Parts: sequence; C-alpha cells; structure tokens
Amino acid sequence: GFRMGIVGLPNVGKSTLFNALTRTAAAQAANFPFCTIEPNVGEVAVPDRRLDTLAEIAKSRSVIPTRLTFVDIAGLVKGASKGEGLGNQFLANIREVDAIAHVLRCFEDGDVTHVEGRVDPVADAETIETELMIADMESIEKRLQNIVRKVRGGDKEAVQHERLLKDALAALEDGRPVRTVEVAEDDLKAWRMLQLLTQKPVLYVCNVPEDEAATGNAQSERVAAMAAEQGNAHVVISAKIEEEISQLDAEAAEMFLEELGLKEAGLDRLIKAGYGLLRLETYFTVGPKEARAWTIPIGTLAPQAAGVIHGDFEKGFIRAETIAYDDFVELGGEQGAKDAGKMRAEGKAYRVKDGDVLHFLFNT
Ligand code: GDP
Repeated sequence: GFRMGIVGLPNVGKSTLFNALTRTAAAQAANFPFCTIEPNVGEVAVPDRRLDTLAEIAKSRSVIPTRLTFVDIAGLVKGASKGEGLGNQFLANIREVDAIAHVLRCFEDGDVTHVEGRVDPVADAETIETELMIADMESIEKRLQNIVRKVRGGDKEAVQHERLLKDALAALEDGRPVRTVEVAEDDLKAWRMLQLLTQKPVLYVCNVPEDEAATGNAQSERVAAMAAEQGNAHVVISAKIEEEISQLDAEAAEMFLEELGLKEAGLDRLIKAGYGLLRLETYFTVGPKEARAWTIPIGTLAPQAAGVIHGDFEKGFIRAETIAYDDFVELGGEQGAKDAGKMRAEGKAYRVKDGDVLHFLFNT
C-alpha cells in the first residue's frame, strides 16, 4: 500500500494527530520530546461518499473503503542529519514512505514547550528541510563513490544513475530540494528509484488552535504562501479538535463539526490531500456481496489495476467491463447501465479512470 510519513519537530502535535487518525492510544501524546520512539504505523480508511452511494444502489452487504498507511515518525530536531535526537533512525524511516505530511506548529501555548523556544512554522519547515537536504547530500556522495568503478567500466545503468545523482546534488548545492529537479521522461523510472528524502512530495499540516480551525490564522497563512511558492500542498487542522472528534460517534461528530463551522473533519481533508499528493485514484468493484474501493496510481492500465485485487487477475486478464461512476448512479446500477449501452468492454490498453466501476474477466 501507499505510505505517508508524519514528520515534524517535537511538540508540534504529531502524535495527537496520529492518534486521532488511527483512533488508538498506541502512540502516546505527551508534552515530552521523543515520546514516540518507534515509528508507529496505522492504516486509515480513505473517506469517499461515492462508495456509499454505489453500495446503496447495489444493496451491497458490506462496504470496504480503500486504505492509506500513516507512519508517525518521531525525533527530528536540528542536527538530525548529524545524529542528534534520533538522527539516522529517523532518516531511515522517512526513506521508506511515499510522501511526507509535515506537521507545523501554528499554535501558541506556554504550557507546551517549543524546542526552538518560539512559534515560527516557516522557520520550522526550513529546519527540517535543511536536515533532509544535508542527509541527501551525504547519501548522494556515498552512492557516487560506490558506483565509480561501474561507471568507469561503462555500465549503462551506472552511468545513468551517476548522471541523475549529479543532477540531484547540483540542486542541493544550489539550496533547492531534489523534488525541484526536472527529469526527462526516459529517466523517470530510474529517478524514482533514487529514494532521496527531499524528492518526496510534501503536504504541510498547519496545526492551529481550536477556535481558528475554520479560519486558519496568521501563521497558517504564512505556511500557505510558502507551500504555494514551493508547489507543495497544505491543509489547516486543529489536532486537538481531531482528537475530540475521534472519540465521538458519527452523528455527534457531525454536530460538533457544524458547531465549529467546519464542513468536513480535518482528518478527512488530510487523507484526501495525501491521496492527491501521491497522485492516486480510486476504482470500484460493486456487487450484492460487497462494494469496495481500490487504490491505483493515476494512469494505471486495466491489467495492472486488476492486479491490485489479485496477481492472477493481472496474469490472466482478458477484459474489464467498465461503467463510469456517473452512469452507474444515473442509470440505477449495473443492469440499468447495461440496458442503456453504458457498459463498455475495455482491453489491456485501457487507462482506468477515477470512479470507474469495474468487473474483470480473466483466465485462470
Ligand atoms: P509531537 O511531539 O509532535 O508528537 O506532539 P504531541 O502530539 O505529543 O503534542 C505535544 C503536546 O502539545 C501535547 O501536550 C498536546 O496535547 C499539545 N498539543 C497538540 N496540539 C495542540 C494544539 O493544537 N493546541 C495546544 N494548545 N496544544 C496542542
């Protein structure tokens, strides 16, 4: 599955948010730096109203949302790349995620210590990015040394690898994260394999006080401006509110949100933003037994989309019977769509579209 790492300086609200996300007490929130020492991993359901609509129409007995994995990564402080705090442990954990949710403290609270002694989310973002950039530079220099011989021997892959590493290094030396490098189509596959820290897309999560959750505040506006300039995403959330909501049932939660002037839980926005950041989309399988959502990267072809359900579906793929979401809903379900000629047979070259309702035919 796809993994988002939650990072941030100590005491910015990471654990509070992670707990709310996964509704567990496993990651203990405490006013104490390095409280979460092991990376905590939690799976969350991706909220999607379309799935409920489809299930209602098909009278499905169970509804299974698609999932996204969050990893609470603790212990980043200034100097992490030099082994301060949890240093290298932290960096190893971050290497394994697909995208980074960077929690920034946009709240004042004299009772909660700020490690740098002041609230400045833009400076905090820079602190962390700088650590990651230093770590990337060191990693690139090591890797360049390791492939010197292969490059000299004319190994094609190593030559490409070296060229890409040098492009990345040039950006870092210029003070820019690796994700700002423009890469040719032919290099994309090798580029993604580099697994550099500042290559991963970033979503800034502004943790604001409860009474500013609906509006944001001056600090979250500074973050928004920074995110826009960098081409990164941002969401405004109150971790405290999310913590409270996570303890309520659905109906009470909705009333609470309304009172606060919020249309949607912050976590729902966070999950959706993460989904978008990872460039993922959803297709559905719908029947009387279950309605289920599946996650694929945007642009996935039908056989590979089938492979998300089961490897055999991909291997023996024949075709995909496809109904667009809107057709399925407007025409009252599968039979209606079929009668109206809106069920298409699609082959191996079909690019699955977000919201497609699919049924795969395959050889066993
Ligand atoms: P972490 O170190 O980033 O994981 O931070 P925690 O989630 O453990 O939070 C550190 C402390 O800040 C805890 O005492 C939280 O209750 C508190 N905290 C988290 N979010 C907020 C917030 O939005 N407002 C206030 N006032 N306190 C918060």
